Amino acid sequence: MIVPDAILGVLGGGQLGRMFCVAARTMGYRVWVLDPDPDSPAGALANRHLQADFGDTSALHEMREHCAAVTTEFENVPAEALEFLESRVPVRPSSHAVAIARDRILEKSFIREQGLPTAAFFPIQTAADLEAACDALKLPALLKTAQLGYDGKGQVAVNGLDDARHGFNDLGQTPCVLEERVDLAVEVSVILARGVAGETAVYPVGENVHVGGILDTTRVPAAITDDVAAQASDMAVRLAASMDYCGVLAVEFFLTTGGELLINEMAPRPHNSGHYTLDAALTSQFEQQVRTLCGLTPGSTRLLSPVVMVNLLGDAWSNGTPAWDRLLAHPQAKLHLYGKQEARAGRKMGHYNCLAEDAQLAMDLAKLIRAQLNGA
Ligand code: AMP
Repeated sequence: MIVPDAILGVLGGGQLGRMFCVAARTMGYRVWVLDPDPDSPAGALANRHLQADFGDTSALHEMREHCAAVTTEFENVPAEALEFLESRVPVRPSSHAVAIARDRILEKSFIREQGLPTAAFFPIQTAADLEAACDALKLPALLKTAQLGYDGKGQVAVNGLDDARHGFNDLGQTPCVLEERVDLAVEVSVILARGVAGETAVYPVGENVHVGGILDTTRVPAAITDDVAAQASDMAVRLAASMDYCGVLAVEFFLTTGGELLINEMAPRPHNSGHYTLDAALTSQFEQQVRTLCGLTPGSTRLLSPVVMVNLLGDAWSNGTPAWDRLLAHPQAKLHLYGKQEARAGRKMGHYNCLAEDAQLAMDLAKLIRAQLNGA
């Protein structure tokens, strides 16, 4: 067990790393952040910001020397960096789990091997794989890059073989998956924390709405049946167990109009759709990251209040700084800003959580605040 005031390392200095820093430092740990960006949101709150690339050997040596354990805030860190650290200190989640989650081909194949459902897909390594995949799948489909895709980036719609060929070229002929487009009734996610001994704490299912491929809102509890919620939780727990996972895991699902529950993807870290836990759960997903990293038992995932989380993208700054005073005038709204200086369109700048007596009232408040921030 790693106890305060040990030094914890985190690879990546974005908002997820920042919220990890807050949780860890609140509990009395010290945090070192590795990130090349001098304005890193997490670096600003860390005890030490190692301003270097993720492959920088001297920075990695220092981390391995001084940190009691290391975690990551995103999956696109080089596998070698995690493996190097793992040779001396606990790295949670493991380089093995991160490697699976980083690559859509490995990820979807792994999920399918566990007997868990996904949308029908085919790995596309070269253009020669496209024809057989288009023949076998029910089109329309989506061509998604196997690596480095996020927030709907690295995806093209495919209605026929020509589209697929053009899309594959546009995506740089990098390995992809071609995946059937399913009719979505709703998208949901399950976040869980799994300790070193396999003890698992699961949060209530969140219902997610995406706009332009980017998460817009998460509502908890989700407006789904208890049966579907239990299925989603079970699948997430099975997936985590099958990787002997240690850490916070987010699993995203599609519920189709036909009532089928399919796993879309997983993230080996706290997730945007779990930001509601900062204000509406007994233990936040970032405290869970600290707990599981340190070999402590996961905290309670009990929901304290129905909640709606709303993302604040850079677009909200298009007419200047949003009217925070209007948001902060609401006693049941909680503002979280990530300390990013430049508000680019689509960039995640912060979020707010609206807590209310039921999820519909929370959604009403979320919409009212959005309108007020937009100058209504
Ligand atoms: P992803 O990056 O794979 O999570 O995709 C981003 C968003 O695109 C998802 O949250 C869905 O809204 C949509 N999407 C992705 N894959 C599919 C699919 N196979 N069928 C329908 N919608 C999809």
